[in-house]
Amino acid sequence: MRQTRLLIPTLREVPAEAEVVSHKLMLRAGMIRQIARGIYDFLPLGVRVLRKVERIVREEMQRAGAQEVLLPAVCPAELWQESGRWEHYGKELLRMKDRNDRDFCFGPTHEEVITDLVRRDVRSYRELPLNLYQIQVKFRDEVRPRFGLMRGREFIMKDAYSFHLDRADCDREYDTMYATYRRIFTRCGLRFRPVEADTGAIGGSRSHEFQVLADSGEDAIVSCEQCEYAANVEKAAIGAASDSATAGGAASQRDAGRAQEATPLRKVATPGKRSVEEVSAFLGVPAERFVKSLVYVVDGGDAVVAMVRGDHALSEAKLKEALGAQTVALASADVVARVTGAPVGFAGPIGLKTGLRRIADRALAGLTDGVAGANEADQHLVGVVQARDLADVEFADLRVAGEGDPCPRCGGRFVLQRGIEVGQVFQLGTKYSAAMHATVLDAEGAERVLEMGCYGIGVTRTIAAAIEQNHDDAGIVWPMPLAPFHVVVMPVNWSDERLRTTAIRLHDELEARGIDVLLDDREERPGVKFKDADLIGHPLRITVGPRALERGAVEIKHRTESTAAEVPVDDAAAHVAALVGAAMDLAQG
Ligand code: ATP
Ligand code: MG
Repeated sequence: MRQTRLLIPTLREVPAEAEVVSHKLMLRAGMIRQIARGIYDFLPLGVRVLRKVERIVREEMQRAGAQEVLLPAVCPAELWQESGRWEHYGKELLRMKDRNDRDFCFGPTHEEVITDLVRRDVRSYRELPLNLYQIQVKFRDEVRPRFGLMRGREFIMKDAYSFHLDRADCDREYDTMYATYRRIFTRCGLRFRPVEADTGAIGGSRSHEFQVLADSGEDAIVSCEQCEYAANVEKAAIGAASDSATAGGAASQRDAGRAQEATPLRKVATPGKRSVEEVSAFLGVPAERFVKSLVYVVDGGDAVVAMVRGDHALSEAKLKEALGAQTVALASADVVARVTGAPVGFAGPIGLKTGLRRIADRALAGLTDGVAGANEADQHLVGVVQARDLADVEFADLRVAGEGDPCPRCGGRFVLQRGIEVGQVFQLGTKYSAAMHATVLDAEGAERVLEMGCYGIGVTRTIAAAIEQNHDDAGIVWPMPLAPFHVVVMPVNWSDERLRTTAIRLHDELEARGIDVLLDDREERPGVKFKDADLIGHPLRITVGPRALERGAVEIKHRTESTAAEVPVDDAAAHVAALVGAAMDLAQG
């Protein structure tokens, strides 16, 4: 392919709209353009990378026995009403009406549509198991679309849905998909980690996220230093050792007894001081001695008071699990005032009206001489002793995990890393099939509700993640399997006939070997061409220059290396083909 025949509008300046590296580089390399918030055009280079990711995804899904379908992007509201998500999905769902005033949405995910297809066309257990997937444009009206392809409103997803007669078969497919995802991201040439995840709004029972490791990632994950355990911090179970190991945690009974005498519970004035930080500074008491109390509304009904230590964060995913709830939402100021009698910032777990459920993170067990809200404006309680003042609260693992917390499996230490969620696999159980009556007849002729799994990959987000993980000051450093071109052939002077003929010859030889090769046939200064090549991130560069050519040679260089190897023109194509092959093999795992 000749560069002059491709629309590659590279930019020297860093576009002001872009915050993260992948977004900046994709704009600068002329891969994408934004046309509205979170909505992008893909230019030829962008499309080439997109097709490479898609191809790897397709090949691995086919290998795993999944079948490709293509469902509509515009979906009728009736299906979403059946599952109940027309009401629950909220503002992320882009809703629209047709000319006859019928409701539709632009699909953000396709559980309803696929369940409808299967309930109509699959009648017998003999047709199971079934795994159907598609690669399609989705729309989610995200509150904060940002970071380019990382969190768009319109984006491309591979979504797969599997259907089974029983849970055991669904388990088997889950394991197959887990392994398939490992293969996919390995083949993309990315460093990633599968981690245990919350099942979130989609619902269900078992889930893993595939996280591409990058410091700029939006997600925090912990992995054990000693064993294989890894999980999203919202979900990561915290082992038992922590309570005694961490500062301000459980003290022995004897200490608690002594502290009880030493610290009578009393009220102190904290005028206008609401946050743990403010009160901590005002009283001169460290945050880890605080009981942070948060009022939550559970499943849209009752309120509960949830507590974590002042220096910890509450995980809503864990709270939901501990309460066995479908949804938990932070209470409004009105609700807080009604249940605690105090404005937000002064709520506390002591002296509340009876019957209000109180649940505390385990790190609060054994707290002595603590601080809590007094349920009165501008007042806090000091001298809180858990064993005395909070003897009857429930305890659960409620906090967001962090660096150094103990592993639930082996007691090893957690290491904190950042990641970009590029895929997620879920076991859905019968959430959708039961709501939508998707059943088959089993061998005995009895009607059975289908077990389901669903498996998503953010195809466009994977491209952004690849760049977040692989770049330097000069531009993108593509992993070979995703590179728009494996190699660029760069004659330093296009109008020099000898250089031009050699470059064209090498280009043709490489193309004949099935290598994705770009010929930089622009009449530009070499400096400009080299800069563009580094910005676009071609893994390999063949420079055709007068001096080496005198010796019958060209220079071959890796994107990240500063020195080039001189190779005879006659061997250059074979040499490059071998380098490309080796890099692709490496990514095959
Ligand atoms: P997130 O937590 O990042 O909002 P999600 O968990 O809601 O994502 P899923 O429903 O699991 O997303 O969708 C499957 C995959 O689609 C995700 O793993 C992610 O890679 C991708 N994806 C989701 N939302 C977006 C988005 N707004 N832009 C780009 N890709 C997305
Ligand atoms: Mg997800």
